[in-house]
Amino acid sequence: MLTSYRLTPPALSWADDGAPHSNAFDDVYFDKESGLEETRYVFIKHNQLIERWNTQHKNAFVIAETGFGTGLNFLCTWQAFLEHAPKDKQLHFISVEKYPLTKAMLAQALRMWPSLDTFSRPLIEAYPEVCHGLHRIELEEGRIQLTLWFGEAETGFAAMDADVDAWFLDGFAPSKNPDMWSDTLFRHIRRLSHPGTTCSTFTAAGIVRRGLQNAGFEVKKVKGFGIKRDMTVGLLAKDDASLTQRMSQGQPWFNVRQDTPAQVTHVLVVGAGLAGAHTAFALASQGVKVTVWDKGDHIACGASGNPQGMLYPKLAAQDTPVNRFYLTAYLYATRLYNKLDKEKYFWDQCGLIQIPKNDKEAERFHGLLKKALYPDSILQASTDRTGSLFLPLSGWVILTRLCETLLAHDKITVRLNTALDSLSPVQEEGQTTGWNASSNGHTHSFSHVVLCTANDTETVDAAPDTPAYPIRGQVSFLEVEKAKKACQSMGETRDKIDFDKVLCEFGYVSPSVDGLLHFGSTYDLQDNDITVRKEGHQRNLSILESLLETPKNTFSTEDCGGRVSFRCAVPDYTPIVGPALSQKRYLDCYAPLSKNAKWQSTDIADPINQLYLNIGHGSRGLTSTPLSGSYIASLILGTPSPLEQKISHALHPSRFVIRELKRSQTPLS
Ligand code: SAM
Repeated sequence: MLTSYRLTPPALSWADDGAPHSNAFDDVYFDKESGLEETRYVFIKHNQLIERWNTQHKNAFVIAETGFGTGLNFLCTWQAFLEHAPKDKQLHFISVEKYPLTKAMLAQALRMWPSLDTFSRPLIEAYPEVCHGLHRIELEEGRIQLTLWFGEAETGFAAMDADVDAWFLDGFAPSKNPDMWSDTLFRHIRRLSHPGTTCSTFTAAGIVRRGLQNAGFEVKKVKGFGIKRDMTVGLLAKDDASLTQRMSQGQPWFNVRQDTPAQVTHVLVVGAGLAGAHTAFALASQGVKVTVWDKGDHIACGASGNPQGMLYPKLAAQDTPVNRFYLTAYLYATRLYNKLDKEKYFWDQCGLIQIPKNDKEAERFHGLLKKALYPDSILQASTDRTGSLFLPLSGWVILTRLCETLLAHDKITVRLNTALDSLSPVQEEGQTTGWNASSNGHTHSFSHVVLCTANDTETVDAAPDTPAYPIRGQVSFLEVEKAKKACQSMGETRDKIDFDKVLCEFGYVSPSVDGLLHFGSTYDLQDNDITVRKEGHQRNLSILESLLETPKNTFSTEDCGGRVSFRCAVPDYTPIVGPALSQKRYLDCYAPLSKNAKWQSTDIADPINQLYLNIGHGSRGLTSTPLSGSYIASLILGTPSPLEQKISHALHPSRFVIRELKRSQTPLS
């Protein structure tokens, strides 16, 4: 278990011409005379990329690299891809980096290559926080996808779910940087490769050639770049293990892949809330035709339709898969919202102050800061409120505007007043090849279906049972002018209403928008009342008065407006995102787990039937739905996952049945 998500940037020396040199490894990131030419020769030419881009049938080409450094290899590949690959093809580039450059260092290093300026600028802009974990970055409106692992290379590749076509092996020289050429790393390279996968590297060191050979690659020495005598190229000619076997890593029940993926022609996303809008957007950005159905008469008519929501991650004091999910998803969400909304139309990254609810929580906050688990750019002590936490990357969102922005994509068609009445699989030779979906008496065919239907999922006959349940939430709002007058009438001299950061404690209040102050929210279990209630306003006003430090009864329920909706919650507080698999098949296949929780099976949970779930985002949908959408798109398209495998297991729709099997002493019927 990690004790900190912080990473140390490298100690660099800069040569007169601006080239960076690593002090720790005493080596250069690239050759300053001919770095570009060397990249093109060693990696692009010797993996035959230009030919393969033009002959490969797959839609997306996947490259993985050891050592992101300054991103030079990535930028050169991106440039070559735009120039040479067919327009309908996508590039996925994965890289790992234990000592990530800061954004400023990256900008300085890339100044050396003015010819790559069109590519380096958007990379620098999109470059993630220097924080341990996996970061997904979309460039060229989704056509180029970069997946960066910040951390140790071995751990990163061990955590990945990807099927790589070509490897760029670019650690520092093997004598100086043995961790980048270890047998364990080569084993993961093999795990993530298929017959036909190639690799190349600038070095011809024996340890590298032997390592690759032991991992199953056929290896050759070829003429090195410039004055270098030799370099190495490799090919994985055959592999007996299928993709799903290679990805299973001892947990076949959490399979999310298909060995022969169904063709993606037209995807139906059911639900036009945050989960549906992000899923549709992620697919559409990768060229997929999507139709979105919603039973309501407008976009975001469920819990995602509250007027204002806050981006508020659940950051814990321990490193667990669920915490890593929220952290990664949070950073991804901030990047996406910043990219989509430069004009502050739906999003204001104003920061969020988390005030402790009691002494125990104050102590926990103190411990969290002392432990320094998170980088300061993510979590720090508040200077506005003593004892509170400050999350500078957070902010608030006008939810319907966000959903409308996402769904305005050319490749997305939205059909409102269109409830999914029934869903039946189209089968050929016992395999599901698509779905017939009916609404309002009409049936339409789709290759894939994603249910983003929150609490309505159980009404879909084809969907598996899930333990998700609704929790009522009433939000309230007040006119700013009335709120100000109420404060003045209590003798308040300071302006308590024009605060500029989201405040959270027992509930939240956001800085005002369009003359209204939004706050809430109630958390009402087993309460299905859809009407806005005065007692709900009363509870929300108590939250507000505590947050603003105004006397009790400063505000009146008479002045409040409100809205009721139902969060879709899950008992383990984790969304349900992934393939919807047959519960019966699980019980049949994995029953021995109920006798022995350590039982190993090689039987992969398959076939995946092109039906997916993306639900259960509770009160954290603004944080969790963007990355969940991107993850679902990766499953449908068979492209690298933006989630570590342990995280995708934690979100897997079948986790409940596996847990139940492991817990029970007798096989379930
Ligand atoms: N491909 C890079 C580029 O285009 O700028 C240059 C890569 S540089 C030669 C090697 C990189 O490997 C360095 O950025 C270094 O920090 C990184 N590295 C070294 N050891 C590592 C490890 N154990 N895990 C992950 N990254 C590591």
